[in-house]
Amino acid sequence: MIIRKAEYVASAVKADQYPRDGLPEIALAGRSNVGKSSLINRFLGRRNLARTGNTPGKTQTLNFYRVNGAWYFVDLPGYGYAKVSQTVKAQWGGMTGNYFKKRENLRAVLQIVDIRREPSAEDLAMNAWLRGNGIPVLVVATKADKVARGQWPQHLKQISGSLAMEVWQIIPFSAASGFGADDLRAAVEEILGP
Ligand code: GDP
Repeated sequence: MIIRKAEYVASAVKADQYPRDGLPEIALAGRSNVGKSSLINRFLGRRNLARTGNTPGKTQTLNFYRVNGAWYFVDLPGYGYAKVSQTVKAQWGGMTGNYFKKRENLRAVLQIVDIRREPSAEDLAMNAWLRGNGIPVLVVATKADKVARGQWPQHLKQISGSLAMEVWQIIPFSAASGFGADDLRAAVEEILGP
């Protein structure tokens, strides 16, 4: 897949604010600060399309990015940031929950985890909920550049084990180096189909 065009289209908190062009969507879920925005920017070859930074909880909306005029990346609010109030957390849960339950255009979720860390309780809950509801999940282990290559197998094994997945189902990725972008592109192509 060649990325010819990537554009920010909308931010939404409610269903009536989602795009209405009926294009397929791939959503991105992960803990705050895991590297979701950086992954989007790297994948789409754009420095600043999705905002990055050190302010966890900054993204409080669903953000729709249209790619090649043909499909969307949907950046979901990061979960599991302790400083966010319970009210905000509940709202996020409702917002993402509603999206998952009602959005017919949703084809799959890319769940982003940190290759260095064991998946959190929230990662596990999100993974189990999605799979339990028949939503295909692809796990991407990002920040791979922060771990020596020789240690990857051990980290990937730990992540796949706790998520009850196979090692080959986890894609190592680095927004810093671009490693894994080709595998991710291939996986996205397969999700979207011909
Ligand atoms: P988000 O909150 O999930 O969108 O996370 P960001 O994309 O804003 O990234 C959080 C921090 O991690 C930023 O300081 C990024 O520069 C850094 N980061 C993200 N991805 C990578 C990566 O693959 N490698 C390294 N070394 N740093 C990364």
